[in-house]
Amino acid sequence: MPAARPSGDQHTPAAAVGALDDEQGDAVRLLATQFGTPTVQLTNARTLSSVTVSLAYERSAIPHALAATGFVIATEEQTHGARACAFVSSKFAERAPHDKVLLRVFFRPSESDIRLTSDATYVERSSAWITRVLGAHAPPLLTWVSRWADALPIVDEAQQTQVRALESALAGSGIALTGSAFHGAGSDAAVRSAVGVEKRL
Ligand SMILES: Cc1cc2nc3c(=O)[nH]c(=O)nc-3n(C[C@H](O)[C@H](O)[C@H](O)COP(=O)(O)OP(=O)(O)OC[C@H]3O[C@@H](n4cnc5c(N)ncnc54)[C@H](O)[C@@H]3O)c2cc1C
Repeated sequence: MPAARPSGDQHTPAAAVGALDDEQGDAVRLLATQFGTPTVQLTNARTLSSVTVSLAYERSAIPHALAATGFVIATEEQTHGARACAFVSSKFAERAPHDKVLLRVFFRPSESDIRLTSDATYVERSSAWITRVLGAHAPPLLTWVSRWADALPIVDEAQQTQVRALESALAGSGIALTGSAFHGAGSDAAVRSAVGVEKRL
């Protein structure tokens, strides 16, 4: 299951700062001297991780028309956190030569999967889905595995309360929070958050 960090109740603020890497820890410690507890509390925000596997195939190896942006795997069918497959070369021009296709399978890994499962196993799991759903009858030509630990914020009431507390503490300081980590998941939320930043400064 995805949750990557324990909830706020399970970490003291000091322990939470200790768990950050040097750069992040320095930033939080610096802010905490000025703005106190709300700075540190937000380090307990829960996150999700992601693993993506990109696979290039001969176009002729995939009988499916690929006239779509991808497919989503029904929750009850998901194995090893596989959630969806994007038809990258259908979504975006020039992502693959005309006789090739580029697909990307998305996983929501467990904590041990993201650290311990080999690239080869992730490629195998991805290929199995592509064969099952799209009927691939040859192996991929090239593959790339990317691991994104703790990369996706979980925006819930507790996180939003902590963001509001920190924004109150920062009010009038000339420092404003911006980005999807604070104001919602996804690029659209990141952009919305940035568009409003001047009003919060
Ligand atoms: C695998 C994956 C797939 C995704 N797919 C989609 C999608 O299809 N559609 C969608 O809308 N969203 C998607 N997202 C989410 C999207 O990427 C994020 O919501 C978006 O990038 C957030 O933008 P941001 O500017 O808030 O943060 P980021 O893009 O994370 O930028 C933060 C920047 O701050 C830098 N930084 C961090 N700490 C420090 C420090 N101490 N000092 C200096 N710099 C620092 C980082 O290096 C980074 O460059 C995906 C995310 C992942 C991980």
